[in-house]
Parts: sequence; structure tokens; C-alpha cells
Amino acid sequence: MKELSILEAKDLAGKEVTLYGWVANRRDHGKLVFVDLRDRSGIIQVVFGPFTPDCYEQAQTLRNEWVVRMRGLVKERPEKMVNPDIPTGRVEFEPRELEILNRSETPPMPLDTEGYEIGEDTRHEWRYLDLRRARLARNMKARHDGQLFVRNWLSEKGFLEIETPILTRSTPEGARDYVVPSRLYPGTFYALPQSPQQYKQLLMVAGMERYFQFARCFRDEDTRGDRQPEFTQLDMEMSFVEREDVMALNEQLLIDLVAKLYPQKRIQQVPFPRISYAEAMANYGTDRPDLREDKNDLNLLAFCWVIDFPFFEKNEDSPSGWTFTHNPFSAPKPEHMDLLLKQERVGDILTTQYDIVLNGWEIGGGSIRNHTPEGLRAVFRIMGFEEQRIDENFGHMLTALAHGAPPHGGIAWGWDRLIALLYNEPNIREVLAFPKTGDARDLMMHSPAPISSRQLRELHLSPEGGTRARSDQ
Ligand code: ASP
Repeated sequence: MKELSILEAKDLAGKEVTLYGWVANRRDHGKLVFVDLRDRSGIIQVVFGPFTPDCYEQAQTLRNEWVVRMRGLVKERPEKMVNPDIPTGRVEFEPRELEILNRSETPPMPLDTEGYEIGEDTRHEWRYLDLRRARLARNMKARHDGQLFVRNWLSEKGFLEIETPILTRSTPEGARDYVVPSRLYPGTFYALPQSPQQYKQLLMVAGMERYFQFARCFRDEDTRGDRQPEFTQLDMEMSFVEREDVMALNEQLLIDLVAKLYPQKRIQQVPFPRISYAEAMANYGTDRPDLREDKNDLNLLAFCWVIDFPFFEKNEDSPSGWTFTHNPFSAPKPEHMDLLLKQERVGDILTTQYDIVLNGWEIGGGSIRNHTPEGLRAVFRIMGFEEQRIDENFGHMLTALAHGAPPHGGIAWGWDRLIALLYNEPNIREVLAFPKTGDARDLMMHSPAPISSRQLRELHLSPEGGTRARSDQ
């Protein structure tokens, strides 16, 4: 088993150790052969020469991305040879043994650069190589470190991480669902969750009180900027809370996360400014204002909350001409509950929705929910849904709310977006291990792909209607 990372070798001058990794490059200088040996933690310079007689010849055969094991001596470099640009720059490695564990074909792109200069299609097709570059390895670690911090922080506050189903039922989150045909029940479909919204509320009805989850969400949307068909939310829900409680807890979590993991970053204003939707639109012309005093400062974080959104907006597709702006499960502001229940002055009703914005990006949003069936039913009535449709689509939620649902509320953060912003990455694809292209394809796995006609038959799908069968069966 590999026991030592390359980065750890920097403190082991004078010691004999075993290193495992990849050949990042090889430079022949007459009698000396230099190799940069790389693993996830970084690179170290390896020197072969007359003083390494047992492996000098073999070293000359090494090529980029070959996988090797080396046993040898970590040596302090003479002062004038120190390389200040890499963390292991004070040492180099002199192998006594060299074992080639695997060879590699010539990689289709350079891996020792940041990678921004390389076409994204190539990077996606060869993602397992692309991830070897230092920047992407760092981004994967950043996601992990952030998730670990959040998991511990929330666990200490009494939250339980609970997984909710991926095979679920079509819900009205505002986007198109991905659906999965049922083999056992012809003509019926599961839907992949656009978010765990209903399940997390049902967990509150179940008395779980404080839930969170790093939840995968699926939305079948047309290409729009930085969207991905699947993405990760930090999803939360709490019982016996008011709007202020959820906002305060999330604000503290963000402050602590930045202080612990990004001490070089400065939060412009604490407590985070709160701006009403009306103010935001009047003063900034957007509900995601970028409040940074200095937009050139890569380390400046300007968080703000946007609150007091209208609950409903006009929409031609809705039977009544009204639809929800954010989330049909939200409660109105307490002082507007009467208007909701009486279905009066619909355009004046404000929701408890709160959005958290960072440097002009919406990084999360949530609300206090309607925890009585009357409140939730009123929302769907305002949208013009017939009673039968309400019961068919939301009967399970209305019934649950009628069985002792506690007051509750929550939020979800766009986790990919937050990590991308904290690392000044231009898009969320840079912080996903295996992203899809802007047009929803996985160039490495060649997905989506046809399935066999046998599979089609089992799923009660016919090749007519555009379903293509794979040609091999
Ligand atoms: N489910 C909501 C969303 O995905 C977030 C929430 O209200 O908790 O946007």
C-alpha cells in the first residue's frame, strides 16, 4: 500500500522512502535524467545519474504518464538549487529502485497546465486524464473539504443526513423532469427528483426535526449558461423555526466555512445585508445584485439576502393566469396568510422565500413552508387547479400536513456554484468530476445512448415515436 504522499516527502530529507505516482515529464541532461514524479498531492523532482546505477538505464525509457514505484533517498537541495515554485522545492529524490507498474499511451493533451487553453470537448472526453491536472485535483479536494466541514458543522447542531429516493414522482418545481419508465407497471414512469423538497418536508412531518443532505438533483432544461442536467444541492430542512432562524443558521455556516477553509478571503459585510426584492429591482435592476465594492478583488465575498418576493406572478400557461415565483410549498409572510386563504389581492401576497446571493450569483434559496393543508391547497387554488387535480398530484402532501405537521422551513444551496465561486472558476463544470457538455452529453461514456430492443420491449417502449433501438440486438 502506498503510505506516503509526494507532498509529505518534503519534510523527510535524509530518509529512505517509497514513492508511487505518475511521470509528469522526463528531461535528459547527458549523464543526468530528471523526472517530475506526480501524485494527487503534487510533484517532486527525481534525479537519476551515475549515483543511481541500478535504475539509470530504465529511467531513460520512462515516458509521460507511466506509473511507477520508486524507493530511494529524499535529499535536501543545495540552497541555489531550491525551487520556490513548488512545495517540495527544497528537496529532490534519488531512487535506488525503480519499478514500472504500467505504461501509458501518449496523452491527447498536456496535463501540466491549468487546462483552460484546451478545448472542453477534449477535456470531457478524456476526463480521467483531465482530472490528473493539479487544478482539477485541487477542485475535487475542495468539494470534499467543504462537504466534510458542513457535515460536521450541521451534525454538531443536531442535523441528520438522510438520503431520499432518486426514483420518485414527477413534481412541479418549475423545470422538466427526467423520467424512468417502469418495467413492472406498463405506461407509468418514475421521475428523478428536481430537488428533495417533498421528501424533506415529509421528514419534518415524520419528526426528524433537523435534516440535511448533499442531494443530487435532476432538471431536464435546455442549455442555459452554466446549468447541468444533474447537480448537487446542500439541502436542509428544520422544524419549529421562523424565517430569521433559518437565515441566521445559514449565515453563520457560511461565515464559519469561509473562516476555516478560505482564510485568505474577506467577507465584505457581516451581518449579510438584507434587501427586499422591490429594493433590489429598483436599485440594481436584478434580484441577484453584485454588491462588491471592488470587482477586481478575487478574494472579496459580498453575500446578501434577498427577501420579500411576491408569492405569485402572472403566467399565461397557468389555468388562472397566476403561478408561484419560487416554490409552491412556501408559506406567505405571516401577515399575508389571510390574503392567501381568502385568495384575495393575489399580486400583493409576499412569500417567506429568502435567496442568498454571492457576488451577483444566487447560491441558494429557501422558505418557511405551508404546514397546514389549507395553506397549501390555497396556493394551488390560486393557480387555478381543479380540486381533483390538486388531490391527484398533491394528495399525499395534503394528507401528511393534516397529520400533525410541525411548522418548518429550509433552504438549498447550489453546492457546485458555491465551490466554483470560491475558487474563481469560470463555470461549475470545473468543479464536477464528470460533467456533461452544455448540450447534456457525456462525451466520455457516450451518453445518452440507445438501448437494446429487448430493453425497449421490457420497458413497454416501442421503437416508434423516435425511440431508437441499439442495432446489436
Ligand atoms: N427545493 C428548493 C429548490 O430546489 C429549495 C428549498 O426551498 O429548500 O430550489
